[in-house]
Amino acid sequence: ACLDDLDARVSVCRACPRLVQWREDVAVEKRAAFAGEPYWGRPIAGWGDPEARVLIVGLAPAAHGGNRTGRIFTGDRSGDWLFAALHRAGLAARETSVHAGDGQRLLGARMVAAVRCAPPLNKPTTEERDTCAPWVNREVGLLAPHARVVVALGSFGWDAALRAFRGARFAVPTPKPRFGHGAEATLVGPAGPVVLLGCYHPSQQNTFTGKLTEQMLDDVLGRARALAR
Ligand code: SF4
Repeated sequence: ACLDDLDARVSVCRACPRLVQWREDVAVEKRAAFAGEPYWGRPIAGWGDPEARVLIVGLAPAAHGGNRTGRIFTGDRSGDWLFAALHRAGLAARETSVHAGDGQRLLGARMVAAVRCAPPLNKPTTEERDTCAPWVNREVGLLAPHARVVVALGSFGWDAALRAFRGARFAVPTPKPRFGHGAEATLVGPAGPVVLLGCYHPSQQNTFTGKLTEQMLDDVLGRARALAR
């Protein structure tokens, strides 16, 4: 019930003027390929199992992805990559996530974005990051009792996860663990340890250039799955 309340409250947040303007402008102007479709044009709530053992922390919704479909990592290339890999790892019921009501489900996993509204050029400002932080922090606080593993996509997700778990009274190693693909850090909380895993973000910038391959993504998600057992 608490997660439902949080989802309802974040869905009407208007705290960042630049992002509210952008998410709504994109939803009116639309990309030509989606001209006939409705756009969500609002903040994106976390999605998946409310008692997930695996949390996936991303950056922010894409303008024509989550901002269009209303579901995180859904409707763009990054999401296609990620959901296909989640399915291979046994963490998603289907290979693709297309829109609400498509039958997709996460299995023992939940995805959250560090910033809940689509930012221009996928780059929130530091102020926007900090303004939005309470949403992800509260969600992590609610999910932490069941979480065993956190997969942080990119250094932005890594830092957001560290901040959120520190806020949930987890001990974070010092000096601050450095992000890298395959990096691991153990965060010790009131109910036991959670392992933070670093993974390059499945952005087109990384997948087109080969910086992130399917095998690399499979390796991290396989590790997450094994740690969550
Ligand atoms: Fe609210 Fe976060 Fe969206 Fe800013 S980015 S308007 S804080 S939901």
